Amino acid sequence: MSNQTAGRICAHHHLYSTLARGMPAPRRSSESFLEILQNIWWRLDAALDLDMVYWSAKLGATEALMSGTTCIIDHHESPNCIEGSLSTIATACAEVGVRVNACYGVTDRFDDQNRLHPKVSPLSQMTDGAARGLAECDDFLSSGGRGMVGVHAAFTCCDETLQSAAELATKHSVGVHIHVAEGVNDVQAGARLENLAKDDWLLVHGVHLDRDIKGYLVHNPRSNMNNSVGYAKPTKRTNKILLGTDGIGADMNDEARLAYARLREFDVSENPETVWSWLTNGYDFFPEARHDKVTYNYDFADSPWHSAFTTNIRALSVEVDGEKILQDGRPTRVDLEQIRAKAQEQAVRLHRRLEN
Ligand SMILES: [Zn+2]
Repeated sequence: MSNQTAGRICAHHHLYSTLARGMPAPRRSSESFLEILQNIWWRLDAALDLDMVYWSAKLGATEALMSGTTCIIDHHESPNCIEGSLSTIATACAEVGVRVNACYGVTDRFDDQNRLHPKVSPLSQMTDGAARGLAECDDFLSSGGRGMVGVHAAFTCCDETLQSAAELATKHSVGVHIHVAEGVNDVQAGARLENLAKDDWLLVHGVHLDRDIKGYLVHNPRSNMNNSVGYAKPTKRTNKILLGTDGIGADMNDEARLAYARLREFDVSENPETVWSWLTNGYDFFPEARHDKVTYNYDFADSPWHSAFTTNIRALSVEVDGEKILQDGRPTRVDLEQIRAKAQEQAVRLHRRLEN
């Protein structure tokens, strides 16, 4: 028994969504996953500027740290401020002391006049926005940034863009980080990606994936439930499973508890060790996090069986590379109150833009 674990890893985050909390309600309610994307997320990411991206990432990284999460694999989109967005996120996370693997999620869903494409065809040409997104990934990785090549999802990209993303990833010896068959509208993803995907790809969601394709599969149980897209049945997959939050915070012990409850609803013969292995599989991406020390207010924090049923375990301190970056539940490198205040200023700006 121990009150310590290694650092936790969030294998799929959207740090830009930290400022979404409290945003104005969409003008009409969403009846499907595609409408949720159109009414909420595709309006939000289009309204972001670099100040918002910075403070959103900084608050998100701070909240991750306060949960014992020391590593984040982020998937970013800000179609009206693409250039420099990845280094902005990397800087914000480094200031807090949290490691990040960053990518820009390319998409053809905006045409060259920056209007929402009604329907992207596999045969259409790569848009200017997708080319700029690939260039942002290329620049960030070329300058030594830790990251991947991001793709929003197959259903918002033409084949030329998917192919180019795969080639760019190979050039940098990294994988592609992509949403795959999250909703029924992306059911073609398996057919379009199976000849491109490699073992180092991060396939996110896979709820409606109709075949096995190469790569890690990231399970995001809370997001899947929130969007009503269905259960991903991760134990039925041949892929190695990781756990992500899809932008709803980065408390991985909490996400694991929810993942376990949902797994048991699906299969009552399961046990907490299964979900625990999804947490530790994340060390494939951040091996150094095995040496991080997270100390909790609970003596059996390292036990999958305890953790699954103890809902109020809190991280008290976090040590990364020998440095205490969380002490008494508070970040040591940055000022928590200042980050909350600055992030709130940016949230007000963002929400005002969404109202107009
Ligand atoms: Zn996502």
